[in-house]
Amino acid sequence: MTKDDPHRKKRIAMVENQISSRGITDERILNVMRQIPRHLFVQDDDQDDAYTDHPLPIGNNQTISQPYIVALMTSLMDLSGSEKILEIGTGSGYQTAVLSRLAREVYSVELIKTLSERAAGRLDLLGLENVRLHVGDGSSGWEKYQPYDRIMITAATPDISKNVLEQVRVNGKIVAPIGERWNQTLEVWERKEDGFVKEKILPVVFVPLKGRFGWQD
Ligand code: SAH
Repeated sequence: MTKDDPHRKKRIAMVENQISSRGITDERILNVMRQIPRHLFVQDDDQDDAYTDHPLPIGNNQTISQPYIVALMTSLMDLSGSEKILEIGTGSGYQTAVLSRLAREVYSVELIKTLSERAAGRLDLLGLENVRLHVGDGSSGWEKYQPYDRIMITAATPDISKNVLEQVRVNGKIVAPIGERWNQTLEVWERKEDGFVKEKILPVVFVPLKGRFGWQD
């Protein structure tokens, strides 16, 4: 994140051309995305493409989301800075890093150990200390630290499991891609005293959530 970072210009352009131009105006989100070195979250050979308008492979058949989708999901989380967040699907750790700069604490679960370990290395390197990672099946959430103010699922899920629904506090929100295996809708579910109010945002394509309450192979 130093001044001579050769990727800095690309990052500024990414925010301008892909994110603010598409209607994300929250300066806190834009600033964080201008600062976090996304190229460190992709594979070495892809570093030059890290700021393009696409998802990219991160190994183990998984992907880092397109920058705009990271910004959009972050904005749907509606963060003030005081929140305790659960993220399901750490992946590269890029979304985790963005959330950690905009909330109090981030708890993030990843099924694939090598991805979680790599993410941990990057988050350490950036000095992001308000993040706790866990290797395991996040389709049932992470019970130990519940309730969460916000939950983000970063893999496609046929539905949100009862366990996860119970781990968000009343007036909290869940942001998730819900639907078919290769065709979902990004949705926001807000928990009210008497149930969830659901809002559909836009069609998306995420890699599948696996595990007990995800897609069975
Ligand atoms: N937000 C990530 C994108 C992650 S892709 C990023 O910015 O890089 C979705 C991730 O969810 C993958 O890493 C995948 O391994 C993970 N995943 C899939 N099923 C899971 C489960 N049941 N529990 C935890 N993680 C899961």
